[in-house]
Amino acid sequence: MEAPILNPQPIIIARPDHNISRANISPNALKVLYRLREAGYRACLVGGGVRDLLLGREPKDFDIATDARPEQIYRLFRNCRLIGRRFRLAHVQFDQEIIEVATFRGHGDDSEEGDGSTVERAADGRILSDNVYGGIEDDAWRRDFTINALYYDITNFAVLDYVGGIDDLKAGLIRLIGDPVERYHEDPVRLLRAVRFAAKLGLRIDPATEAPLHRLGQLLEKIPPARLFDEILKLFLGGSAIQTFELLRHYRLFGRLFPATERCLSHQQQHYPKTLLMRTLTGTDARLAEGKPVNPAFLLAALLWEPVREQTERLQASGLDEVDALQTAADLVIQAQIRHTSLPRRYSLPMREIWEMQQRLTITTGKRPLRLLTHPRFRAGYDFLLLRGDADQPAAKLAEWWTRFIAMDEKDRLQAVLPSPKSKKGKSRRRRKPRSAGPSDSPNPPPPES
Ligand code: ATP
Ligand code: MG
Repeated sequence: MEAPILNPQPIIIARPDHNISRANISPNALKVLYRLREAGYRACLVGGGVRDLLLGREPKDFDIATDARPEQIYRLFRNCRLIGRRFRLAHVQFDQEIIEVATFRGHGDDSEEGDGSTVERAADGRILSDNVYGGIEDDAWRRDFTINALYYDITNFAVLDYVGGIDDLKAGLIRLIGDPVERYHEDPVRLLRAVRFAAKLGLRIDPATEAPLHRLGQLLEKIPPARLFDEILKLFLGGSAIQTFELLRHYRLFGRLFPATERCLSHQQQHYPKTLLMRTLTGTDARLAEGKPVNPAFLLAALLWEPVREQTERLQASGLDEVDALQTAADLVIQAQIRHTSLPRRYSLPMREIWEMQQRLTITTGKRPLRLLTHPRFRAGYDFLLLRGDADQPAAKLAEWWTRFIAMDEKDRLQAVLPSPKSKKGKSRRRRKPRSAGPSDSPNPPPPES
């Protein structure tokens, strides 16, 4: 990037003129800031912490920027780890909280700066590593959006603004620092970050920052799948999953993350796939708003369900039995997905189980329903079935059956699934073998009224 014209004189908003109070800053972050200051370093809170506090919101985490080098930070804290190659920084670990401490970055065009290293770039302008250090005024310009480049200085509790972030915050604008196209090329994940902050904070994206969003999505192909997976979790677990999803689709970025799902969404006329997904996203937001935990595997199961369902149908039509069809479909969908975003096994295994559960839940006679109740993934599978039921009549009927079944006491449950002892041996007693376990098929046999 061409060195921007630096404004070494920031706008300074003195303590009485802003609303950031130390009472709202994590005590651990304050400890780190004070310790750095006592050791003679410059130390500021920066990024989302400052932005969210100025907006009157509770920050998700607290990031710190300092002129201490990573090794110097390391020596200062016992509970410290240095991480990252591309972007080296320090993690100071407290019980439940990690405080991220980054050394001020320079713009990297002048190898005299910092420790003589340069910003390493790919031919397409992507930054491969950024470990050139500089002063705070350089650091501000290396950040992504103006509202993310505000510093809360621990020496005098003032807010420092080198890039016009305060005005943008007041105007509710998300604006990339510098030339937007260049900054997206440097790091395409900024495309997703723009959407994430717009959705989560309810801010508008400035037109010059917004325009490239529609056409630069293909840059995301260069991003390692593992980094995109981390970003997906942030996108959908930030409390505004619905708005995020709508915006991602609007800018044609959703298909860069979940191509198979996007294909289903765009070719299907009926609202069904969208409804299941929307209900899952709404549920996720609601749970987070209530402070309840959410299961990323459930979210992923919903995001990839439609491709799995369609693929299962195709395989069944070509002669596979329903169980094999679902297994194979799950394999195919997962294999295709991990070329775009990784799916760590700790999420993909329970995700598969939720899908498999959709078949097992179709069996409503014999001992199996009783056994299924004790399955560790039963609840997730049943909740998933409930959501499917919103737009899928057979699934709704099946979900009703399970809802009644769960509410019964043990005796009634036995009666509901096992043949009544009075009935005579013979044809009528024979339990019907469940015919349709396909995820999209109707429950079978018809749910008993009890
Ligand atoms: P939140 O933590 O609420 O998701 P945040 O803005 O703090 O939002 P982080 O990912 O924690 O986001 O990053 C902290 C800060 O580091 C950002 O505010 C920004 O200044 C800078 N930053 C993070 N990622 C990038 C990036 N890809 N390019 C440039 N600067 C970045
Ligand atoms: Mg942060």
